Order: sequence, then structure tokens, then C-alpha cells
Amino acid sequence: MSFARRFSNFIFGSSCLGCGFYAEKLDPWLCPKCREELLSLGKDPFFPQEDVVCLYAMNALTRRLIHALKYQHMPGLASYLVKQSAACRGGGVYQWFCSFKKPFLLIPVPLHSSRLRERGYNQTDKIAYALANQIQGKPFHGVARRSFSESQTRLSLRERQCNVAGAFQIKKSFPKEKATCIIVDDVYTTGATTGACTYAILQEKEIDIKVCTLLFEKPVSAALDFVADSDIEWD
Ligand SMILES: [Zn+2]
Repeated sequence: MSFARRFSNFIFGSSCLGCGFYAEKLDPWLCPKCREELLSLGKDPFFPQEDVVCLYAMNALTRRLIHALKYQHMPGLASYLVKQSAACRGGGVYQWFCSFKKPFLLIPVPLHSSRLRERGYNQTDKIAYALANQIQGKPFHGVARRSFSESQTRLSLRERQCNVAGAFQIKKSFPKEKATCIIVDDVYTTGATTGACTYAILQEKEIDIKVCTLLFEKPVSAALDFVADSDIEWD
């Protein structure tokens, strides 16, 4: 949190990022009620597939927080969310990671360069650094996004999955030693994005790959699924 915001909160109090209500005490973004809700959600990570863990379910609170992380210039929320989750030392996700071969290479899903310029940071990068701190891993920027201009709007889920398969490429050599790659993203919906990253890495090197995202969002219908992919995964 910036000094200006801290100072302003100290003098004037502030509104909670979760519920929007004024609160005298924020911790540092949430009122006690929202923080309690977040802690409770954080105790219940979700494994949509064997090698994939999502630290939180998507609900109104986590949706607002991820939105703020991405669009309200609050990169510090990445570390905050990781620290309240089961990825902390002793938590269930931490234990899960400990069962894999070290060292851990944390690979943030790269943003489109235009988005990166606009936003000033890649939120998945921030999540990867926060996770690396918790599980003693090392961020590794070994994957780049290929330019991908074809509009996705009229394609079916299957067609989009085919299209996304070649969306990434390797930009630097992976270490020769045995390791576990952990692909890091903000939201897991269909798995198309992280699946494409996995595909690119496996073309380069035979290595164990896991996926960790902050949130899980269930694809309720093809339409909602597309909105989620466009809004969250395709930026
Ligand atoms: Zn609140």
C-alpha cells in the first residue's frame, strides 16, 4: 500500500475494498468482516485437476479483490492474497507443494505487451513472487506470449482451445537440473491458458508441471465461460 494511501487512511479512515463500507480500521484493505471471510475462503483451496490448485473460490469478495489487483493499480494485493491462503507455511497447499521435487520454478503467465505497458505490471508476476517467498521457489520468466490477433468472439470453446494451444513460446533455456515448474496465473476457468503454457514448456523440456492460480471460477455456461476467458485470461 502506498504511503499516501496509508496516510489518508490514518487521517480520514477509508472504505473497505471488499464491501465498500466505511471502516475505521482496515487490514490494510479489508474491514474485519471481509477479512474474516477471506481467511475462511483461504482455508478451502480447490483442486480442479490433479496438478492444479486454486487458492480461492470466486465469490463477490474475491472477484472485487482480483479486479482491484488488475485494474486499480494495487499490485500489493497479490502478496496479500497469497499470505492469507493455504499456500503459507504449514497450510494445505504449502504441504502439497512440499511433496514435489525441488527446486520450484514459478512461471508467471505472461501478459500481452500492450497490456503490460498500460498496467505497468503483470499481476501474475506479482503472484509468482509472493508464492516463491512462501514455498522457497524461484520466479522464472521462461515463457513468452506469441502475438495473437484473431478475434476469439465467434469461436466455440473447442476452437478457442485449439487456437490457444500455440499461444506461448519458450524465450530462454530451462535449467538442466531436475525441478518442478509451477505455472502461475490469476484465474483458472477452463484451463486453456495454463494448458497452452504447459504445452510450450513440454516442447522444450520433459519436466513436472503444476499450476497454481489465485482464483477458481466455474464455467457456468459457454457464454459466461467466454466472458471469463476474454476478460481475465486473454489480457
Ligand atoms: Zn468489508
